[in-house]
Amino acid sequence: MTYKNYPMVSRVVFGRGSFNQLDEIIASKRNGRNAPFIFYVDDVFKGNHWLTSRITLSYKDKIIYIPTKEEPKTSQIDQLVEDIILEYSELPSGIIGIGGGIVMDIAKAVSLMLTNKGESKDYQGWDLIKNPAIYHVGIPTISGTGAEVSRTTILTGPIRKLGINSDHTPFDQVILDPELTKDVPKDQWFYTGMDCFVHCVESLNGTYLNAFSQSYGEKAFQLCKEIFFEDTLSTEDAQDKLMMASWHGGMSIAYSQVGVAHAMSYGLGYLLGVKHGIGNCIVFDHLEDYYPEGVKLFKQMKEKHNVKLPKDICAGLEPQQFDTMIDVALSLEPLWENAIGKNWKKTITREKLLELYKKM
Ligand code: NAD
Ligand code: ZN
Repeated sequence: MTYKNYPMVSRVVFGRGSFNQLDEIIASKRNGRNAPFIFYVDDVFKGNHWLTSRITLSYKDKIIYIPTKEEPKTSQIDQLVEDIILEYSELPSGIIGIGGGIVMDIAKAVSLMLTNKGESKDYQGWDLIKNPAIYHVGIPTISGTGAEVSRTTILTGPIRKLGINSDHTPFDQVILDPELTKDVPKDQWFYTGMDCFVHCVESLNGTYLNAFSQSYGEKAFQLCKEIFFEDTLSTEDAQDKLMMASWHGGMSIAYSQVGVAHAMSYGLGYLLGVKHGIGNCIVFDHLEDYYPEGVKLFKQMKEKHNVKLPKDICAGLEPQQFDTMIDVALSLEPLWENAIGKNWKKTITREKLLELYKKM
């Protein structure tokens, strides 16, 4: 038995207002005037916003606003990399991603692709990256995905939706400032928060679970219950705790895996463009056979926060469209193996998945 040797985020700051330390933190990483810092920022912060007005640009540094209606595509990453190469004479000093999972994943992927030849689609998978990435920093503005700690960046490519999983993917630096999450809309808060909840349920109920994953997963699970059930929690405490739940949830799946909800949600994402958080919620709502306790709690939280999930999103799909979703879901073998066990192919049939997708 060889145990996996995981990279972790090298440095992390936590605290309300810690975003103000960004300049000071990255200053020592500057490689001269011609090597800029590129800031990818969620376009929800566009304009003279209280967040972006706190970013200092020097020399050739640049803010690039990222639309977040759609999740990142490999072609988009290749374009962003090409834009940098065409515009600057030297490689950037660093890439800083400020936003949710989308923007953080874009920052990770661009930092990897600046030092690895070819197209990003060729690196979707496990451990295909050869060279270390450029210095990259993640600053979440919404909590739940765990993208700030993970060793993956999830991309939709021409043939698959799959991460670039590598030892070079994790951020060199993360700034956790819960204050940045204060304007997240309620529904989005729930969907992305539930991503964290689902990470815990899938990790804690998976066959890959070990004490390392369990210790993080249980903590995140308990924090989620506090955040989504306890009325006495102050808004600030809830923001602080959800940021840490996201971190722990991400750490929990680092050494295990996600499961059924994620596998099927990738199918919805690939075919219909349904986003990760809401997609997980739509799927998880129907998984009582797999995660009875977790689904029961999920339904209670949904009820408590009065969140209405879209219904019948698969109504009217053609048989070959269902086939595409099923192909995407089944291709994620480690997820199924974690969820069901080595013999998962005996129970997870195409018919079974079709029946589930038809309910969504
Ligand atoms: P997101 O990045 O899709 O953002 C969701 C919405 O929230 C956007 O409209 C955005 O503008 C808005 N938003 C973000 N911060 C805000 C703020 N402070 N105030 C107001 N609005 C704000 O959301 P997400 O759920 O964090 O990320 C989903 C993405 O993360 C998907 O692309 C998914 O594939 C990826 N993901 C990656 C990992 C990983 O380990 N790399 C894990 C899970 C999910
Ligand atoms: Zn997830």
